[in-house]
Amino acid sequence: MVDIVSSSQAIELEEKYGAHNYHPLPVVLARGEGVFLWDVEGKRYFDFLSAYSAVNQGHCHPRIIQALINQAKELTLTSRAFYNDKLGVAEKYVCETFGYQKALFMNSGAEANETAIKLARKWGYTKKGIPANQAVIVAVKKNFHGRTTTIISASTDPSSQNGFGPFMPGFEIVEYDNVAALEKALVNPNVCGLWIEPIQGEAGVYMPAEGYLKAAETLCRKHNVLLMMDEVQTGIARTGKMLASDYEGVRPDLLILGKALSGGVLPVSLVLADDEVMLVIKPGEHGSTFGGSPLASAVVMEALQVIKDEKLADATYKLGIIFRERMNNLISKTHLIKLVRGKGLLNAIIVNDVPDSDTAWRLCEQFAEHGLLAKPTHGNIIRFAPPLVITEDQLHECCDIIDKVVLGFKK
Ligand code: PLP
Repeated sequence: MVDIVSSSQAIELEEKYGAHNYHPLPVVLARGEGVFLWDVEGKRYFDFLSAYSAVNQGHCHPRIIQALINQAKELTLTSRAFYNDKLGVAEKYVCETFGYQKALFMNSGAEANETAIKLARKWGYTKKGIPANQAVIVAVKKNFHGRTTTIISASTDPSSQNGFGPFMPGFEIVEYDNVAALEKALVNPNVCGLWIEPIQGEAGVYMPAEGYLKAAETLCRKHNVLLMMDEVQTGIARTGKMLASDYEGVRPDLLILGKALSGGVLPVSLVLADDEVMLVIKPGEHGSTFGGSPLASAVVMEALQVIKDEKLADATYKLGIIFRERMNNLISKTHLIKLVRGKGLLNAIIVNDVPDSDTAWRLCEQFAEHGLLAKPTHGNIIRFAPPLVITEDQLHECCDIIDKVVLGFKK
């Protein structure tokens, strides 16, 4: 094995031996704690991406790491061929936390979305009476639910789809944030599910108008359609409430979670539903070797308990307001940025430039030079999503860095 002594050495190895399916900033990280990351050379950064919102509780949260270690010493994996002494406890915990009757653990966010698709379709055939193989799931433009072949079949992003066909049938795509489009689409009696993100994170933190989610829920009830809410990125306090759906008092029929469920410690995802929906899947019809492992179960409970004990949703709500105030103040002093939008600590700034210019990328390079790590999502949009354990002072320090870089930026 090679000992990494420099960033360039690590980058060279990844370039040579790794698939080129990402385009990272040239920073090589070796250690993390709370809101901070350190590179191989020992330089410290504020993390303003949180592993795409998986590290809401902060890097290497001591309680979560301790839960991981304790459980790893006892039992890590049994498969679901047998019962284990942690899964039922974790299922009860998440059902009570989010208010559902049943839980189904998977690993990645994409897998949880796939699970929700299967549940919605099976429910459509067995409960709604949709003729075999005719079920339709309504999805929205600019969605992001993962990278599997079924999920990308519902994507409208060319970089997700191009070259990966043929695609899975059974999706109808409508405008996001357009209630009239939903009204039209959900009338089709073959529709079993409406599949949405409460805020479109990957697309660039697009927020629907207030009332859209509630209207979507009402229409789902009216037309006997399951509301499938993908809160993989927005859930677990990221937007200033435990779920982004909570802002409108919406209760999805299928709640899809991932990322920060484990505090970024290991891949754990989850679908929550009531019996009427979850029990349509019978033994042998769906599963995963690692899903619901004792290790994941122990980690999830601790990771969620940290969110509750540290009151991270409330703190995030308040910090989000401060952050957007600071960004709006910056916008009043520069033409380089035209907008900030978001909820809680899921925010984006829109760089005032053509969408495919390299300005956002170059800004992120300069943020990194000044000790703050963020990344553009889709051309001219930069997402800012620090760990939720960031303090108000630290947030101001980060806003100072953003101000300095933006105001000093030369094209
Ligand atoms: N759904 C949403 C809303 C996401 O943001 C993501 C990842 O960014 C996913 C699903 C996919 O999750 P994973 O990368 O764990 O498969």
